[in-house]
Amino acid sequence: PIDLARAVMDNSPHVMLSGKGAETFAKEQGLEIVDPQYFYTENRFNALQRAKEREKIELDHDDQQALFYDAEIKNFKYGTVGCAALDKDGNLAAGTSTGGMTNKRWGRVGDAPIIGSGTYANNATCAVSSTGWGEYFIRAQVAHDISALMEYKGLSLAEASKIVIHDKVGGLGGDGGIVAIDKDGNMVMEFNTEGMYRASMNDQGDLKIEIYEKE
Ligand code: ASP
Repeated sequence: PIDLARAVMDNSPHVMLSGKGAETFAKEQGLEIVDPQYFYTENRFNALQRAKEREKIELDHDDQQALFYDAEIKNFKYGTVGCAALDKDGNLAAGTSTGGMTNKRWGRVGDAPIIGSGTYANNATCAVSSTGWGEYFIRAQVAHDISALMEYKGLSLAEASKIVIHDKVGGLGGDGGIVAIDKDGNMVMEFNTEGMYRASMNDQGDLKIEIYEKE
């Protein structure tokens, strides 16, 4: 997927391709195509079966919403893997896997692939990758909003991230978090869930791995 995203950027005039067209483009680019079985894990398959079981039970609208997030939220286990990086030439990059929403339907698109929502990088400000309840991250345009607060208001990455994750996403009733790095190498991993699996490394090789609230 990363090679394909790179090919879209380098070898097409477009920013985002989807569905069959994206597959055709990938084949034309000579990229490796794997069978869906490649992505199978027993854990995720069982979670899907449990969600489908629950779906059979009569639920009101709010519960329907909660259904998708059930396993994830209660165990603070959003499934998305994201990264943000600054290289020695000052280039910022962010990447976000498609996540985490069990039993999503109707061709639902989350925040992960939407530039400005779940993923954004701008050499003038920061790189951001998010995990969380994607619908809220799309509504709040989380990743770009953090960058915009830095660009237009002169806020630091830490200040901007706090406002967007706690006031904006939290204010709308959503939850999740981000990993981000700014153009000077400051790293921020802000979240409003109970915990977020996260790690960072600076240019000295100092590694930090955390799950729950910050010290
Ligand atoms: N943000 C992802 C989505 O809404 C879920 C996740 O982070 O696991 O698709």
